Amino acid sequence: MNIPASLNGLYASSVQVNTKKKWIIAVVGGDILLAHPEAKASNPIIDSDMAEPLSLLCQRKITLGQWHSRDCEVWELTTNTPKIEAKGYRLLTLRDILAVAGKEVFTLVCRAVQLLDWQDTHRFCGTCGQPNQATDKEHAMTCVACNINNYPRISPCVIVLVTHADECLLARNANWPSNRFSALAGYLEAGESAEQALHREVFEEVGLVIHNIQYVGSQSWPYPGQLMLGFIADATSKEIKIDGIEIAEANWFRYDQLPETIAPPGIMAGRLIQQYVQQAALTYG
Ligand SMILES: [Zn+2]
Repeated sequence: MNIPASLNGLYASSVQVNTKKKWIIAVVGGDILLAHPEAKASNPIIDSDMAEPLSLLCQRKITLGQWHSRDCEVWELTTNTPKIEAKGYRLLTLRDILAVAGKEVFTLVCRAVQLLDWQDTHRFCGTCGQPNQATDKEHAMTCVACNINNYPRISPCVIVLVTHADECLLARNANWPSNRFSALAGYLEAGESAEQALHREVFEEVGLVIHNIQYVGSQSWPYPGQLMLGFIADATSKEIKIDGIEIAEANWFRYDQLPETIAPPGIMAGRLIQQYVQQAALTYG
């Protein structure tokens, strides 16, 4: 198969091409396993030869597609194996991996954990309650009785960096630690467009009206299956009125005086901030 160059060697598919060697992502209880003491968080992909000792612990395999023409799988390892770290393996949280992963590794890891979670949460038919069956032709959980296929559930969300001249608005979710700030985000309601969701979320969370909406890009966010649609938008005023429920705190920050604990540029919130800072530095620097 000739994979278009724009995919950088990654082809998200449910079908294997049966390569001799494979790339493996190993997941243990939602964490990602690094199989070598020298392995970096930016690349948790395991060569199938090196993964062989892990096959005894593997309780589920799902095809992820191909990367650089080699089949990729997620292996879910049992959590009943104590002290896996004692064997020279390391476990990192999903967020640790995503914070530093390049685009293709990011996609593979997101696919790995999302497909596992999707199978776990679609074990029974929502119509008749009978057990669903995983099919091997495509990623679908099928109810044979109802002839219904359930596909991996992806939930669109909007994330927006609201700006006002040389300042941008960052907020702290009520569930976050006191020093963590990010852009505003929320799920699309049924029937809404992304633009309508943006206006509603910003108004609900911080009482602001926005305009000049600029689309920046999209990114999978596997908690558990969001698709983040990233935007930058201008506020018509700076008068914040936080909802006090979802948002505990929101402040305007000058582009060159941002909090220390913002998301890295590999994550959509960080990408929005980075793009705004670069634009603002040219305009106001
Ligand atoms: Zn059914």
